[in-house]
Amino acid sequence: MSTPADLGAILDMQRQAFLRAGPPSHDERINHLDALLAQVIKNKDRMADVLCEDFGNRSRHETLIAETMSTVNAIKHAKKHLKKWMKSEKRPLALQFKAGKAFIHYQPLGVIGIMAPWNYAYQLSLIPVAQALSAGNRVMLKPSEFTPGASELMKEMLAEAFGQDRVAVITGGPEVAADFSRQKYDHLMFTGSTPTGRKVMMAAAENMVPVTLELGGKSPTIIGDDYDLNKAAGSIAMGKLMNAGQTCIAPDYSFVPEGKVEAFADALSVQVHKMYPTLAANPDYTSIVADRHYERINNLLEDAKAKGARVQEINPAGEELGNQRKIAPTLVFDVTDDMAIMQEEIFGPVLPIKPYSNLDEVIDYVNDHDRPLALYHFTKDAADRDKVMQRTTAGGMTQNDTIMHVAIEELPFGGVGPSGLGSYHGHAGFKTFSHAKSIYRAGAFGGTAMLKPPYGPRLEKMINMMIGK
Ligand code: NAD
Repeated sequence: MSTPADLGAILDMQRQAFLRAGPPSHDERINHLDALLAQVIKNKDRMADVLCEDFGNRSRHETLIAETMSTVNAIKHAKKHLKKWMKSEKRPLALQFKAGKAFIHYQPLGVIGIMAPWNYAYQLSLIPVAQALSAGNRVMLKPSEFTPGASELMKEMLAEAFGQDRVAVITGGPEVAADFSRQKYDHLMFTGSTPTGRKVMMAAAENMVPVTLELGGKSPTIIGDDYDLNKAAGSIAMGKLMNAGQTCIAPDYSFVPEGKVEAFADALSVQVHKMYPTLAANPDYTSIVADRHYERINNLLEDAKAKGARVQEINPAGEELGNQRKIAPTLVFDVTDDMAIMQEEIFGPVLPIKPYSNLDEVIDYVNDHDRPLALYHFTKDAADRDKVMQRTTAGGMTQNDTIMHVAIEELPFGGVGPSGLGSYHGHAGFKTFSHAKSIYRAGAFGGTAMLKPPYGPRLEKMINMMIGK
C-alpha cells in the first residue's frame, strides 16, 4: 500500500524527469503509444479473464468491445492525428500587431494524476493514460480497488512498457485514493461518482490543481410518440443491459407516451428474451461487481415497492440468480420523485418507466433535475428533435439510439454541471492534457515602443484613429 510520502516521492521523481528531459518529440510519443498498444493487444485474453473473475461474471465480448476495442481505437486515433494536434496554431492579427506573429503552442502540462473506476476498468484507465502520453506528459494512475485483478494486471502491463518515471500505477482503497487526490499534480482527472468527484475537487483545490471530472448521474431517455417502439426498445435494452447497466451513460429511466407503457414493456421483454434467453449461466449477462452494489440496487427496488411502484422482472428462463450477484432486467412502473430510484443513479439493469402526455412536460422535468451525463431521444420529427436538443442540457446525446456518442473519437466526451467538468477523447483529450500557451512574437516595429511616455499628440492621434473617432 502506498503512503502519502511514497506518492509524493513518485510525483517528484516524475516531475524531475519531465523537467530534465523536456517535452517528448512526436516520434517519442508515437513510441509510447505503440508500447501501450502492444501491451493491450498482447494481453487481450488475460484482460478479459481477469475482469471476468473480478466481476463474478463479466461478458468476455463486452470486455472485447468496450475495453479492448475502444482502447485500441483511441490509441490508433491519437497516433494518426498527433502530428496535426502538436502543431502550433497561428492566429490572425489586428493591424497594430501585424508586424509580429501570434500563435498557440501546445505543451505538456507535466505530471497528470488519473483516478479510474471499476465499471470499464481498462478503458477508463488506459484511454486517459494514452491521451496524457500523446500530449507528452508523465502519468500516475490509480485504478479501482473494486477490480483488483484488472488493477494488478494494468500495473504489470504498464511497468513492462514504461519506467516508473513515465507511468506509475498506484493501487489501494479509498484512503490511498484520498491521498492520491491530494498530490500536487499539474492536472488531475477523476472518473467516478458525483459525490466522490466533489471530494476530489475539494482536495485538488487545496493545491490549485486543475481537474477534469468525468462523473455520473441519471441519463434520461425520451421516446417520441411517432417513433417505432420496438426499435427504441431494442436500443434501450442494449444500452441498459450492457455490463448489466453498470455504465455511466446507460439510459437511467425512460419517458414513454401515455397509453404506450404496456406496449413498450412488452417490446423490452421481447428484446431481453432474444438477447438473453437465460441469465444465470449465460456468460453474456454480466454480474453486479460487488455485494455492496448488489445490495444497493436491491434496496432501490425495495424502497420503490414500499412507496407504491410496480416492479416487473424479465427472467426469460425463470431462473434463480442469487449466487452470482446477477440481477434480472427489471422494469419499474408508477414511480414518483420521492423514491430513491428516481433520485440516485441506478447503475444496474433496472429501468423506471415514466408516462408523459406532452414534450414540454418532459423538458421541464429534465431541466428541474441535475444536468445529466447523457440524454437519448427517439423521434423522426425534426422540430421535436431540435427542441429537445436545444432546450435540455446534457453532457452528450445520441439521437435515435443509445450510448454510441461515446464511441466517436472525434466527439469530446464529458459531463456538464454535476455530471462532470471538462472532456476528453480524441483531440479534446490531447487539449485537456496540454497547456495551450498563447505566444506573441514581436516584430521589428510597433508593440510597447509605440506606447512609451512621454505621451503627446502623436499617441492621441493614433488612439483616435484606432477607436474610429
Ligand atoms: P466512486 O465515486 O464510488 O469511487 C471511485 C473511486 O474513488 C474509488 O475507487 C475510491 O478508491 C475513490 N475514493 C473513495 N473515497 C475517496 C476520496 N475521499 N477521495 C478520493 N477518492 C476516493 O465511483 P465508482 O463506483 O468507482 O464508479 C461508478 C461511478 O462512476 C458512477 O457514478 C458512474 O456514472 C461514474 N462513471 C462516470 C464515467 C464518465 O466517463 N463520466 C465513466 C464511468 C463511471
